[in-house]
Amino acid sequence: KEQTLGLIKPNAYSKRADIIGLIKKDGFTIAEQKEVTLTRNQVENFYAEHRGKKFYDELCTFMTSGPTIALLLEKADAIKEWRRVMGPTSVETAKKEAPNSIRALYGENVTKNAAHGSDSPESAKREVGFFFHVEDTY
Ligand code: ATP
Ligand code: MG
Repeated sequence: KEQTLGLIKPNAYSKRADIIGLIKKDGFTIAEQKEVTLTRNQVENFYAEHRGKKFYDELCTFMTSGPTIALLLEKADAIKEWRRVMGPTSVETAKKEAPNSIRALYGENVTKNAAHGSDSPESAKREVGFFFHVEDTY
């Protein structure tokens, strides 16, 4: 089975039990789970691909604002499947096009959009390593 990295972002932390329920109902196995309040350095590294974009600073500030739940998710075609279950990045679009998605149900806006998912096998490998199976050197 394929693995992907899922995050429940700080704005949805209080809804984590509901979201984890949906994840299990959708047939994912949660191989590992970890709660972490990310430091500025960790977020800047995790989202390095977005450095220089207009929303980068706001995104990094938000992601350090409270606890995040990191999930190592397993399922056939997990990367694509998890992004389908999360719904579109924009909560507005999610509410229109995927009203039962996690972002439609638990997102507040495009920044506070409740969840993250790796977007390719390469990013999944990197991002799973970021939270799991790697000695903490911070
Ligand atoms: P993620 O990487 O968190 O799973 P994504 O792959 O759907 O989301 P990306 O383009 O990688 O979207 O953007 C990363 C995150 O940056 C988004 O989830 C969102 O929180 C934030 N973001 C993206 N675009 C915008 C924007 N236009 N304005 C504000 N925040 C944004
Ligand atoms: Mg992304």
